[in-house]
Amino acid sequence: MSDGPGGSDDAGVAGEGSAVRSCPCGSGAEYAQCCGPLHEGGDAITAEALMRSRYSAYALGLEGYLRRSWHASTRPLAIELDDGTQWRRLQIVDRDRGAAGDDAGVVEYRAAYRTPHGSAVLHERSRFRRENGHWFYVDGDILT
Ligand SMILES: [Zn+2]
Repeated sequence: MSDGPGGSDDAGVAGEGSAVRSCPCGSGAEYAQCCGPLHEGGDAITAEALMRSRYSAYALGLEGYLRRSWHASTRPLAIELDDGTQWRRLQIVDRDRGAAGDDAGVVEYRAAYRTPHGSAVLHERSRFRRENGHWFYVDGDILT
């Protein structure tokens, strides 16, 4: 670790600064302004916002949030996230209702991911329901 005089300026600069963390959902917003507040207990305004926050939760390994945002009627007993899966990109393909004043909504998305075995895309049309002001993921159909 020798700091040459003026020579290598790429050491030490990165890393330390608290770089603004862009949200894993790919919205382009900062995590702290996007999915972060939802992960900390805030309510999603729309079904799409909940969908995005769940994608981010998968990317960040937040099992507790995935449980909380899963409708009780369909929530699995255990959610096991695979450490070997890297979520690369989320693309919202279509949405139907799911606005702030609705109590149900559908969001279709494509989520690109990589595993040790290769890359793939999960294409799902997900159903959401809003109860007592909270959006929940209910279930979805896998599309090809
Ligand atoms: Zn986000």
